[in-house]
Amino acid sequence: MDLAAATARRLVDPVLAVVFPSACPACGRLLARPGRGPLCEPCWASLPRHRAVACRCGLPLAPGLSACGRCRRGRQPFAAGASLGPYEGSLRVVLHELKYAGRRRAAARLADALLEDPAVRLLVATSDVLVPVPLHPRRLRERGFNQSALLAHEIARRAGTATCPDALVRRLDTVPQAGLTASARRRNVREAFAVRRKASVAGRTVTLVDDVLTTGATALACARRLEEAGAMEIRLLTVARVA
Ligand SMILES: [Zn+2]
Ligand SMILES: [Zn+2]
Repeated sequence: MDLAAATARRLVDPVLAVVFPSACPACGRLLARPGRGPLCEPCWASLPRHRAVACRCGLPLAPGLSACGRCRRGRQPFAAGASLGPYEGSLRVVLHELKYAGRRRAAARLADALLEDPAVRLLVATSDVLVPVPLHPRRLRERGFNQSALLAHEIARRAGTATCPDALVRRLDTVPQAGLTASARRRNVREAFAVRRKASVAGRTVTLVDDVLTTGATALACARRLEEAGAMEIRLLTVARVA
């Protein structure tokens, strides 16, 4: 943030807090600095983090395991992966605020939180390009932004890594994924994506960026297309992961 914006924020925040007292959507406390994004500072400082040891692909592991099933079977397209924490509590709330309430500033704070982790810093710093999971153009028009592209932009800007927001495109507008079984989701998304900017991924270390990983069907479908386009190594970075 530049100095003028920071100064304006300092002047405006206390006024906003009095005129439009708004509550933290995660805990209900009144926000002292509403301009700083949807959560209160204590909630930002205590976002849920993964406690379990993670597989190299980023999947939190059950106690005693050293690799997830897909990595053990050699069927994992992701050479490395990471996420901030489980999709619950304040992390779930802030991702909803970003995606459905248009609180775009949350993307910057989430990028900061991700990059606090040395493993994430390394993963991003050694990537050639960050590629967000795309939205279908119709959904992009409805929402006005792609939350994954915002996240990739904020992360890339901080880390000095390149990002290619339109390397992948979504050709099919699949029905909302919530409520479908894992196999139905996979069928739905398998053919949904295509690589549009082959030159930006061929022969390169590509990190796919998404807000939430649920079954992994979307990420997997994107990874298959990136593989076909000649990506040298594919990694996965998400804010939250359904453990
Ligand atoms: Zn709070
Ligand atoms: Zn794994």
